[in-house]
Amino acid sequence: MTTPLDNLLDFDQSALKAYCERVGEKSFRATQLFRWIHHRGVGSFDDMTDLARSLRAKLAGVAEVRPLSVITDKTSADGTRKWLFDVGQGNAVETVYIPEDDRATLCISSQAGCAVGCRFCSTGHQGFSRNLTTGEIIAQLWQAEHQMKAKLGLGANERAISNVVMMGMGEPLQNYSQLVPALRMMLDDHGYGLSRRRVTVSTSGVVPMIDRLREDCPVALAVSLHAPDDALRDQLVPINKKYPIDELLSACERYLDAAPRDFITMEYCMLDGVNDTPAQAKQLVNLVKNRLPVKFNLIPFNPFPESGLTRSSNARVQAFGEVLLEAGLVTTIRKTRGDDIDAACGQLAGEVQDRTDAQRRMTRAIPIVAAPSVPNPSAVPPTLKQ
Ligand code: SF4
Repeated sequence: MTTPLDNLLDFDQSALKAYCERVGEKSFRATQLFRWIHHRGVGSFDDMTDLARSLRAKLAGVAEVRPLSVITDKTSADGTRKWLFDVGQGNAVETVYIPEDDRATLCISSQAGCAVGCRFCSTGHQGFSRNLTTGEIIAQLWQAEHQMKAKLGLGANERAISNVVMMGMGEPLQNYSQLVPALRMMLDDHGYGLSRRRVTVSTSGVVPMIDRLREDCPVALAVSLHAPDDALRDQLVPINKKYPIDELLSACERYLDAAPRDFITMEYCMLDGVNDTPAQAKQLVNLVKNRLPVKFNLIPFNPFPESGLTRSSNARVQAFGEVLLEAGLVTTIRKTRGDDIDAACGQLAGEVQDRTDAQRRMTRAIPIVAAPSVPNPSAVPPTLKQ
């Protein structure tokens, strides 16, 4: 039986130093190697021309830079590009590149499937398959960055991707040990050189891990809130039963001591008749006002059949946002992007395989109590920043 090659994408710079020593090389070689891989996007040792021939030959015998296999690679009319990567055994993960006027953001997955099981999330409906390795997490950035650089004709010291959000498939804080080295590679000046403000971890609210991230690698934090009270959040984001809203907000308060930004982003998926009334917006205001500096990001729901949920109308989203804005809370509405290349996040991968009986469990879940509708939605002025 042949021994599998070590994947150098699994190692942040300090782990690569230890690896170099283990194979009998000076640790300073690790910086050269790390720059070739991450900064220059080179995966073949033969092409790393300033490394001694003997080292290149030695590495070729024990290690590789292992890319993810691409299942599909589609670019939308608005420039959004979505890769579906094969991570083995019928599992697939999605990575999305989103260009805007002043930035280009990459949305990265951390797990194949997800165990949290949020009601409105296509990934949650697929159940959990497995954690991605550090190498599989960073490979998404490695491949997207260098493919986009080539496509855009950028120079060696220019970057295609300015921001990373850990907001793809999976709960990143439930794959903590593999996540943190990947974050360190994103921040490393010899790697992608992103500032801590430009790397965001989005969590459903794994409170103890928010505290650990604050100690280990405090990047920008986004929280999937989606409900103004525990009764509703228990239904929409089941991890709330373990870490209810008050505990979650306390963890956010502690996180701000170390965070690179002076606010926490609150993600709020707008579900028609479920969490989108002006009264619920007022509840949200009461929850955070005078307690926690936050920015609300209202997300139009991407419907998928198994959810049994529908998207709030634009007027209803506007009305909700107006309440937050009038209370002095910074609020934006997320634009929908790449609509012509697929529907909800997680759906493409879900078509590859539904590995668990999560869908059956989800459809048996208790129905969500409907909220009253807005009587005259057309009266709401469209003034929110989109
Ligand atoms: S929203 Fe995030 S945490 Fe919730 S099920 Fe989907 S991937 Fe998991």
